Amino acid sequence: MKIKIIKGTNQIGGCITEITSEKGTKIMIDYGDNLDDKKQWIIPGLTIKDDLESKYDGVVITHSHKDHIGCAALIKKEIPIYLDRDGKEIHNNLCYFTKEYEKILRAKDHTLRYFEFGKKFFIQEIAITPWIVDHSNYNSAMLCIEVDGVKILHTGDYRNHGKKGYLFTKTLEQIGKVDVLITEGTTLGSKDRIFKNEMDLSKDFHQLLNYDQIYVMCSSTNIDRIVNLYNSFKKTHMFITDLCMNKITSLLKNIPNSNTFPDVFTFVSPNQRKIEEPYVRIMNHTKNVIKELPFERRFIASIKPSMWDYIKENKDKIKNACLIYSMWDGYIRKDWKDPKQREFVKYLVDELHMGFAKIHTSGHASKKAIQLLDEKVNPEKVIVIHSEKTEDALKIEKEIFKERLWDCQDGETLEFESSKKQSHRKTQSVCTSGKKE
Ligand SMILES: [Zn+2]
Ligand SMILES: [Zn+2]
Repeated sequence: MKIKIIKGTNQIGGCITEITSEKGTKIMIDYGDNLDDKKQWIIPGLTIKDDLESKYDGVVITHSHKDHIGCAALIKKEIPIYLDRDGKEIHNNLCYFTKEYEKILRAKDHTLRYFEFGKKFFIQEIAITPWIVDHSNYNSAMLCIEVDGVKILHTGDYRNHGKKGYLFTKTLEQIGKVDVLITEGTTLGSKDRIFKNEMDLSKDFHQLLNYDQIYVMCSSTNIDRIVNLYNSFKKTHMFITDLCMNKITSLLKNIPNSNTFPDVFTFVSPNQRKIEEPYVRIMNHTKNVIKELPFERRFIASIKPSMWDYIKENKDKIKNACLIYSMWDGYIRKDWKDPKQREFVKYLVDELHMGFAKIHTSGHASKKAIQLLDEKVNPEKVIVIHSEKTEDALKIEKEIFKERLWDCQDGETLEFESSKKQSHRKTQSVCTSGKKE
C-alpha cells in the first residue's frame, strides 16, 4: 500500500492525497483549488484535460470547501466521485453565485456516488468509512480507509470546539487504533493556539445588543455560525440574510432561512436584482424578500462587498451601527491577494464609523485536539497536511508525533506494509526518497 501526498504538505488548502493498493487500485482523497490563487492542479489520468486512459478508480471528497472539492468537476466521467449529497448541493449552489459554472458537478458529466456517514463502502478492494466530523462546513467527513491490512485515518478538516465537537472522542474510539494518520495541521504554525468554543461566541455577540444596526460578514457555508448569530439576536433584531446565504441555508433541514422561518428575511440589493436571469429566478422562488434594508428598525444583516454601492447610497441612514467580522482574518490581511474584502471593511469602519468586532473561532483543530486524536488512534506513522509547514509548525509536529512523524514533501510516496505480513517487526514503513513529480 502506498500513500502519495500530491499536494498539501506545505500549504493550507488544495490538498490532494493518492492511495494505491498492492493490486494497483488507485484512489484520490480530495481534489481542491489553492485557497489564494484558485490555481487548478491538473493530474494526468484523472482529469478531462488529457486523453490518457483513466488511472484512478475513485475520488473521495471530505467536504465542500473549495480547497477540497474545487477541481472535482475536472474529473473524467468514468471515475466515480464519492461525496455527501448535501455537500454537493452546497458546492454547486456556491459555484452558481460565484459564476464558476465550469466547477458545477452534474450527473450528465460526472459519476456521482453519495456516501452515508458511518456506512462502509468499497472502491474495488479498498474499504472506506466516512465519519461525520466537527468543522466550519456542513457535513464534513473524516475517512477511515482499510487497504491491504493497513488502516489509514485521513482527517479532512476538523476541530472539536464546535457544535459537533462532542462526537469527536466517541468517533475516534469507534475507529480505534490506526497504522497511518493523515491529519490537518492548519493552526500549528499560528500564534493563537487557544480557540474559543463556537457556542461561547454568543456571549461576545450579546455584548453588541445595544447597536441598532448590526452588519455581519460571515461565510455562507458556516452553518454553525449562522445558527449561532440567529439565536443570539432573534429576540432583539430582525434577522436578514443575503440571497446566497439564504439559498444555502434553505437547502438544509431546519437552518434559519427566509423560506421556512417567518422571522428571517432575505435582502436582495438593486445590484443583484439587475444581474442576469439565474439570480432573478432564485429571488422569485425566495419568500420574505426585502429590497431595502429597514434602517428605521433594529436588524442584523449579512453583507458582502457586492452590496457596497447600496451601502454608499444609503450611508446617511447608517446610525448606531456595528460590523461583526466573523470569518478568517486572513482575507482582510494586507498580504491577501484580493483586496476587496479588506477595502470594504476599511470603508465601513473608517468612513462610516461603524463599531468593529472580530468575533470568530477557527474551523480547524487546535494543538490539543490533534494531541487527543493522536492519543485515541495511536498511529505508527503520521503525515501532517493542510499546514504551512513553518519552522514553528514543524517544531510542534515533532513535539507531538516524535519519530512517528513522516516529514514529507509534495510528490513523495510512503510505502507501508501490514504488520501481519512481517515476521518479527511489528510494523515496517519505508519512505521512498524525495522524488517530486
Ligand atoms: Zn481545507
Ligand atoms: Zn474546510
